[in-house]
Amino acid sequence: MARSRENVLVIGAGMAGLAAASRLLEAGVEVSILEARARPGGRLATLDAEGLSIEAGAEFVHGTPEPLWELLARAGIATVDVGSGQVDVGTRASEPSPASEPSLAEMAEILEAFADADGSVADFLALPSTQARWSPEARARAATYVESFHAAPVALASARGTARAEQGASASSESATFRVQPGYGALVRALAAPLGDRLLLDTVVTAVRWERGRVEVDARTYPGARMRTFEARAAVITLPIGVLQLPAGAEGAIRFTPPLPEATQHAIASLGMGPVVRVVLAFAAPFSTGPGEPTFLHTPGEAFSVFWALPGKAPRASGSPTMLVAWAGGSNAAALSGRGARAIADEAQGVLARALGQDEAALAARCTGAWVFDWLLDPYARGAYAFITAGAEDAADTLATPVEDTLYIAGEATCSEAIGTVHGALRSGHRAATQVLVLRTLDQGPDGPYAPEGRYPREGA
Ligand SMILES: Cc1cc2nc3c(=O)[nH]c(=O)nc-3n(C[C@H](O)[C@H](O)[C@H](O)COP(=O)(O)OP(=O)(O)OC[C@H]3O[C@@H](n4cnc5c(N)ncnc54)[C@H](O)[C@@H]3O)c2cc1C
Repeated sequence: MARSRENVLVIGAGMAGLAAASRLLEAGVEVSILEARARPGGRLATLDAEGLSIEAGAEFVHGTPEPLWELLARAGIATVDVGSGQVDVGTRASEPSPASEPSLAEMAEILEAFADADGSVADFLALPSTQARWSPEARARAATYVESFHAAPVALASARGTARAEQGASASSESATFRVQPGYGALVRALAAPLGDRLLLDTVVTAVRWERGRVEVDARTYPGARMRTFEARAAVITLPIGVLQLPAGAEGAIRFTPPLPEATQHAIASLGMGPVVRVVLAFAAPFSTGPGEPTFLHTPGEAFSVFWALPGKAPRASGSPTMLVAWAGGSNAAALSGRGARAIADEAQGVLARALGQDEAALAARCTGAWVFDWLLDPYARGAYAFITAGAEDAADTLATPVEDTLYIAGEATCSEAIGTVHGALRSGHRAATQVLVLRTLDQGPDGPYAPEGRYPREGA
């Protein structure tokens, strides 16, 4: 069994892992990043689809969260404002109508009121006082929004936790939404480049043995599924909560020896991992979503509750496709998940045809391709993003607390103020790196583990 020794191991090369590793490296800490996939980025993955960039995972920048904008600026990556045109279509209406301003305003009030509520979103919406104050339309819109945008079944989602995440998703006084022009993949490349061969791809962590000040990590590497053990002073663990929640012995579960502290285990178990099914539909000819070409087309009550057009909608050359995203989150996504790409794509086309009052077969005939991303089935994510469940309002903060100054858990699920977002993941990575660096400062005696000739030098150093 090959062995190597490092100062700090970072497990997972999504936004949190890349951010933590970059910070540590900048501070002179020897770091190795172990990533299961053949690419960095995790839930940031930009694909080339018929000449257009499409996102399998995150697509938007919500608001103007400082560290993310700073990174984008440093990497010279442009963003575009997505626009805010919204239309509602009834389940079988042929005439989309602009989303009613009063119901949008009422929904915003409901989301704000979550902040003072105990229990789940469903509990809050069912309260007589809630029913007396807000219209059924606004309550239904709020429920659909939480299921869709937060990917959180309303019966499970904490009202207070959702309010907090909602503030974090806006992340600024202006709650505009932006798109990373070349795709989030460009940011991943910019972050990964300086890490060089410290970033080990195709390296699937299977076990973590730890004691205060020392970590051993077993990983399966390809080709040949060779086992390798890495040793370090500390580990930053950025595994998605869906992976950490796998029961012992399940395919993909990571064995911690000794087990993580009870409070940490409890926090992991009590967070929710929201399912999302995202479909990108390509059309041979420009596809109109109605008068004014709204950005978002809401289809409440359907399996896919919102559609939006991707940039490049106007053909760049004759025959260029037009692309639409069909989005299902929460309970809808859980019901769709596992049905297979063909069935899911057909369902998306069916909803779109009904929403626009078009013939389903005719619409299907115009569709030249579909990309289906069923995140619940992704073995290295096991869902799209985390949400705070009722009663677990402190879970993210518990996870952000270092374990014996040795294991530092990061990732979007550990950032209570921006859970489920790219900037939440980024902040968590920076937070974990800072925690490691503070300890390093304390430990930097002549024999300390972080001293240049310390106990765990890089192999061959
Ligand atoms: C469909 C979808 C749409 C989204 N839309 C948005 C959006 O518009 N805006 C926004 O802000 N956020 C959005 N998000 C959320 C955002 O993508 C995530 O919050 C963020 O990217 C998570 O980063 P992370 O580093 O915490 O986790 P990840 O990116 O999941 O990184 C964890 C890494 O750990 C690796 N890993 C897993 N298991 C192992 C193992 N055993 N060994 C080694 N490595 C392992 C994974 O491969 C992964 O690379 C979206 C997510 C999805 C799925």
